[in-house]
Amino acid sequence: MKMSDVTCSSCFAAYEVAESVSLPGSPGRVQCTICGELLASWQEPKLRAYRLILPSEHKYSSVHVPPSPVS
Ligand SMILES: [Zn+2]
Repeated sequence: MKMSDVTCSSCFAAYEVAESVSLPGSPGRVQCTICGELLASWQEPKLRAYRLILPSEHKYSSVHVPPSPVS
């Protein structure tokens, strides 16, 4: 299994790509599940799996200041 990362050129969603080096697959294409942009297409009989790496939505929540209680 070969692992790599790919980033959508349109919405910058990150994907983890797993490519089998031993199992045969089939030609295919993968589209971004978020914006529909074509991520990759291949004609070789490869077995590939793309997994969306969920953006860390907590990345910005740490700087989010909760509203002050109204007194
Ligand atoms: Zn995208």
